[in-house]
Amino acid sequence: MQEIWYIFKDDKLLLCRSSEPRLLTSCDVGALSGLLINKGTVVIGDRDKGKVINEFWGEMAHNAAVPGNMITMGLREVGSTFGEEVFYKAARAFQLMKWYGHHLFCMSCGGRLKPSPFDNGKICPSCGAIFYPPVTPAIIVAVEREGKILLARNANFPPGRYSVIAGFVEPGESFEDAVRREVKEEVSVEVKNIRYFGSQPWPFPHTIMVGFTAQWASGEIKPDGREILDARWFAPDELPDIPSGISISRKLIDHFRQYNI
Ligand SMILES: [Zn+2]
Repeated sequence: MQEIWYIFKDDKLLLCRSSEPRLLTSCDVGALSGLLINKGTVVIGDRDKGKVINEFWGEMAHNAAVPGNMITMGLREVGSTFGEEVFYKAARAFQLMKWYGHHLFCMSCGGRLKPSPFDNGKICPSCGAIFYPPVTPAIIVAVEREGKILLARNANFPPGRYSVIAGFVEPGESFEDAVRREVKEEVSVEVKNIRYFGSQPWPFPHTIMVGFTAQWASGEIKPDGREILDARWFAPDELPDIPSGISISRKLIDHFRQYNI
């Protein structure tokens, strides 16, 4: 099986420059020897059980020059260029790279951690503590009212961009609690009929987006003015600028449009 190397420089994925950009294989990485500050394997599940490991991650030094036969590409563009499957694999490698590079010491005793021989974790040789790459859940929800969808303008969005409501799950909350709280906090609306839609790993930096649909129950939109600058009900044929590409936010909006036009 061909080995694939997901090597990043300044958070962008290195690709071979050919007529069509392509992922790096073991044949390509020789040119990068001495330029990587970190590298490792991508382990899915347990490392033992006779598994063949054929995916690797690497981090290129910040000041190293990208070889002439290679280019770099941001992860979102990787998704729109190569599709979801490659995006998820590159995203997993990216998250491992970030965590391995930054989580160096034991949070219990301060000892220097070593990679686990069994999986993607790290073990402290001094006290035996085990650590795993973090995955942070966030909810994202399309709220519908009489054939219109609730879209909001986040303060961090590009000008004119609207999307569905999203936010991190807090300790002690169910996903449904988080949906109710986030919608209430951000636009002062109560929702009902919360239904699971789907999920998506989102590596910026280590989130799992858990998507829902819901229906308006009560209240009029009042943006919080801090995180959300504007929010409105939009009919399917009058949508504003919305996220593009493979994001679950776009899938939720497309799903609404499909069933309301
Ligand atoms: Zn320790």
